[in-house]
Amino acid sequence: MVETATAKAAKAQHYSFFQGVERNFDKAAGFTRFEKGILEQIKACNSVYQMKFPVRIGDKIEVVEAYRVQHSHHKLPCKGGIRYSMDVNQDEVMALAALMTYKCAIVNVPFGGAKGGIRINPKNYTTFELEKITRRYASELVKKNFIGPGIDVPAPDYGTGAREMSWIADTYASLKPGEIDALGCVTGKPVTQGGVRGRTEATGLGVFYGVRELCNVAEDMKRLGLSTGIEGKKVVVQGLGNVGYHAAKFFYEGGAIIVGLAEYEGGIYNEKGLDLEKVVAHRKATGSILDFPGATNIANSLETLEQECDILIPAALENVINASNAARIKAKIIGEGANGPLTPEADEILLQKGAIIVPDMYLNAGGVTVSYFEWLKNLSHVRFGRMDKRFSENQNTNILQTVESLTGKRVTDIERRQIMHGPDEVDLVYSGLEDTMIGSYHEIREAMLSLNMTDMRTAAFTVAINKVGVSYEELGIFP
Ligand code: GLU
Repeated sequence: MVETATAKAAKAQHYSFFQGVERNFDKAAGFTRFEKGILEQIKACNSVYQMKFPVRIGDKIEVVEAYRVQHSHHKLPCKGGIRYSMDVNQDEVMALAALMTYKCAIVNVPFGGAKGGIRINPKNYTTFELEKITRRYASELVKKNFIGPGIDVPAPDYGTGAREMSWIADTYASLKPGEIDALGCVTGKPVTQGGVRGRTEATGLGVFYGVRELCNVAEDMKRLGLSTGIEGKKVVVQGLGNVGYHAAKFFYEGGAIIVGLAEYEGGIYNEKGLDLEKVVAHRKATGSILDFPGATNIANSLETLEQECDILIPAALENVINASNAARIKAKIIGEGANGPLTPEADEILLQKGAIIVPDMYLNAGGVTVSYFEWLKNLSHVRFGRMDKRFSENQNTNILQTVESLTGKRVTDIERRQIMHGPDEVDLVYSGLEDTMIGSYHEIREAMLSLNMTDMRTAAFTVAINKVGVSYEELGIFP
């Protein structure tokens, strides 16, 4: 359902996804001080690798079409996910690679943007066949020097996950024997294969941290006619994949009310709130979110986005909110969990309606932020917290004992555990992510205020262009 709508919307509009990203870039470029040549260079995709390779599926040979696009080399390695979908084409991969450059710049992750894609429907293949396709793709990347811890580091995206990343890491390591940092050639790996704790939920958690920060700014909430804070806010989430599910989970745990959920098969809505885990269990048991007890079914999945709510999180695919449905969106806050869920037309319509659109290049940057932590872990060959957890605990114990003996009072056992606790890997990853999302939010907000605009996407683009532009200026042009 969602995929078909995406394809339809893309065809209906008179410019491509990549051109849409270029339009947004141009809108912001005017607010920066860089000369035309630098702006053209920032905008362009540096390297586009289209490949076709044969894979034996059953008794037939299939020719598989795949891509890897490196949008910017101003910082290395390049970074970005790999998606498996029948919607994959060169334009889409270029657009997504470009978004990665801006995304990394906004959250101060020192990478250039990249993206990969294989044009397959993973549901049509067995695990063994998917492994063959993935390994072949990885070996094509090795052949052309398009992968490596210091060159280009893929990660999961739509249709891929830790399993595929593990196959890629193993293929790379086999072809590069003795390369000590080989595990840093890809992120989003299982924790047992060099992954980092917290990576799976990172994008969804980042979406939550970003929207929560927005909701904590009383002045902005007042403008929207909403109360401050996340508690009690009504939320609709589109897509129960990795990003959507985790975003919904953190909103739910943060005290928001999940009133609507949309998936391929349709949507469900209950203004009193849906119990997320029960919906997930219901889908597992029946194969669909529809007919969930107490909720109203919405046959056309996309209509779920138009239901009454405060916060709308499109966390599926690009172009789902476009000129044809934007006017009917009621949410005052639209948080882009997916990459490119709003077309530039939808952006205009919703901005005119006074909504705040928290752009993808900031809001879903939690994934790449924690990928950066994973890459650092791989290069340092040590788990975060391993060297200092016990030291911190001992230090905390000493401080606590000193305070207790000076005051003659004792803290409760719960307080004692909280104060003494030294950080585990996941604590450090979460706090690093939270700090990143809060810091970048205010950087964008300040840009928005200084440009005297309410368009957060344009403000975010100017922040990103400024950072990439300064990098080009400082590096100079070679030769
Ligand atoms: N695919 C994710 C994104 O679009 C993550 C990329 C990464 O971790 O490199 O941001």
